[in-house]
Amino acid sequence: MMQRDLEVIWHPCTQMKDHETLPLIPIKSGKGVYLYDFEGNSYIDAVSSWWVNLFGHANPFINARVKAQIDTLEHVLLAGFTHEPAVELAHRLVNLTPEKLKKVFYVDNGSSAVEAALKMSYHYHLNRGKKKALFLSLTNSYHGETLGALAVGDVSLYKETYEPLLIANQQVPVPKDQSIEAAREALKVLEEVLEEKAGEIAALILEPLIQGAGGMHMYHAEYLSGARALTEAYDVHLIADEIMTGFGRTGKMFACEHADISPDFMTLSKGLTGGYLPLSVVMTTDEVYSAFYCDYNEYKAFLHSHSYTGNPLACSAALATLEIFEKEDILAQNSQKALYIEKRLQRFMALPNVKGVRQQGMVTAIELQGYDAEERIGLKIYEYALTQGVLLRPLGNVIYFMPPYIISEEEIDKMMDVAYEGIRKLEIRN
Ligand SMILES: *Cc1c(COP(=O)(O)O)cnc(C)c1O
Repeated sequence: MMQRDLEVIWHPCTQMKDHETLPLIPIKSGKGVYLYDFEGNSYIDAVSSWWVNLFGHANPFINARVKAQIDTLEHVLLAGFTHEPAVELAHRLVNLTPEKLKKVFYVDNGSSAVEAALKMSYHYHLNRGKKKALFLSLTNSYHGETLGALAVGDVSLYKETYEPLLIANQQVPVPKDQSIEAAREALKVLEEVLEEKAGEIAALILEPLIQGAGGMHMYHAEYLSGARALTEAYDVHLIADEIMTGFGRTGKMFACEHADISPDFMTLSKGLTGGYLPLSVVMTTDEVYSAFYCDYNEYKAFLHSHSYTGNPLACSAALATLEIFEKEDILAQNSQKALYIEKRLQRFMALPNVKGVRQQGMVTAIELQGYDAEERIGLKIYEYALTQGVLLRPLGNVIYFMPPYIISEEEIDKMMDVAYEGIRKLEIRN
């Protein structure tokens, strides 16, 4: 299968030549936190298959809901038509998310949700007679890889090549660590930039509390409350990209809740369907919605669409996922698991090549020191962990755990022990 794959498949985010020496791993099946290959090896999915899986692979409850839906309605266009899963899900999301978010725009993947939010923000100001074509974002941010999303991100490895194709974006510093002082320092710069350029800026987009692809960088909730107050004062939208942080990852249902703020837009995807099917939404306010609401001939409508927008199978997986949150009090269980992880994290600090550890809810990161990018330390850890039955996928020098919420204490032990051994085995140099 590896051979047949490499004949025809161009894999995401991969230098394909690496596969001359690094074997692909064909996966036969999944169950709970485990993935199984064809040789009977199992791997703990410590990264939730790129941060999407919440309640395990082949979850019986979600399976049953998707199976029932597939016999009822697999898909219908959402322009001019509607269906029960889309309506039910939209109501649930409006009830769950911060209070000002009242409208749900369906999209079908994370990057496209970011695109739609950027377009809506720009278009909102335009509909009110203001041309604001500049977006603000944070240093070290990641919002996806389509051109608009790439423009507001700051992972140079992904972005540099495409620089001439990108829309206008300016970056303000992300708080450098989790302290309240760092948050206040960064807010000062944000205020200066808004003071100078608010007239040109449509929105500030940020990943609340945790910058995922930027190495699980974490910052204080004070930055969120400050940024909300400032953007409001300067007539600039706040877009909370909760594609990674949403659905319980940070310890609350949404990261914005840590600061008790209501953004103008919220983008959600990844965990939305429990990791089953591609789906995303842009949530927004009545105020934004009503700026587009008028007679057709005024040409203010938001004419944006994707073929699989609001797919019924994906919506039914999302409904099942939200039901699990409700009936099992997942957030309370997660806070116990996070405490358990925290206790096991301290011993990593004693390793000489560990620079620091950090944690926010069900996201835990260990940052290494003393290696440069060419050494590809992350790849070494990845390869070692696979031989030990754990799927870790470090981001450069940052090893992180973002497991499905159903992980048991024994499985947490295994996942962390393997990471510990992997780090201990690395050659140390300074
Ligand atoms: C993953 C991610 C995206 C992009 O989502 P895709 O579905 O991969 O396009 C956008 N923003 C954040 C914060 C993400 O983590």
